Amino acid sequence: MLCIDWRNTTGEPASSPQKKSVENEFLEYYNNLKASVANPAPQPTSPNDTSEMPLADNRQDLLKQVMQIDSNIQNYKRAGWSHYEHFGIALAKLKRMYFTPCFHCKSKNPEMFEILSCLKCTKASNGNTFFKDLEQKIDYTPGYINYLIRIAALSAKYPKLKLTPWNFSFLSKYITYLADQMEKDKHLWV
Ligand SMILES: [Zn+2]
Repeated sequence: MLCIDWRNTTGEPASSPQKKSVENEFLEYYNNLKASVANPAPQPTSPNDTSEMPLADNRQDLLKQVMQIDSNIQNYKRAGWSHYEHFGIALAKLKRMYFTPCFHCKSKNPEMFEILSCLKCTKASNGNTFFKDLEQKIDYTPGYINYLIRIAALSAKYPKLKLTPWNFSFLSKYITYLADQMEKDKHLWV
C-alpha cells in the first residue's frame, strides 16, 4: 500500500531505495495524469465501435457480447478507456450473475463492484464456474479478467480518469498505487 504524502517526500529518509524509486516513478506518472485532466486529449472516434453497445441482462446473451467486445478490441487493436471500461463492465456484470450476495451485502443493496470485491460474497458464490464458462470463450486467465474488472471499477468510480491518456503498461504497473492515491484525491477525479 502506498503510504506517503507526496507534498513532503524530499526530506525524508528512504525506507528502502527500491521502494522509494517505485514510489517516485508512480508520483511522476500520477502528476502527469493530473495535469492531463486539465488539458484532455481529444478522444478518437472509431468505426464499428462496440463501446456504446447496451449490455444484455441475461447470462447467455451477455456472454456472447463479451466475446463480441473482445474480438472487436483484438481485431481493431482498440485502446482507450471507453473500450476497456466497457469490456470490464461487461465482464463484471456477467460475473455478478454468478454471485450470490452475502447476508451483509444483501441488506444494503450495494452496486455490483462492491459485491464483486466483497470477500464474503466471493466465498458464497460460483466464481469458479464463471471463469470456467468464460475460459471456453475467451483466452484470458482469471487474473487478467479480474484486472480488467478492476480497471472498469476504477474508471466508473472516478470518471475523470477517462480524460487522461490511455497507457496500458503504466496502468498495469501502478494500478494499486493509483487506486489508493485517487481515493485520497477523490475530489479531483469525480
Ligand atoms: Zn458481501
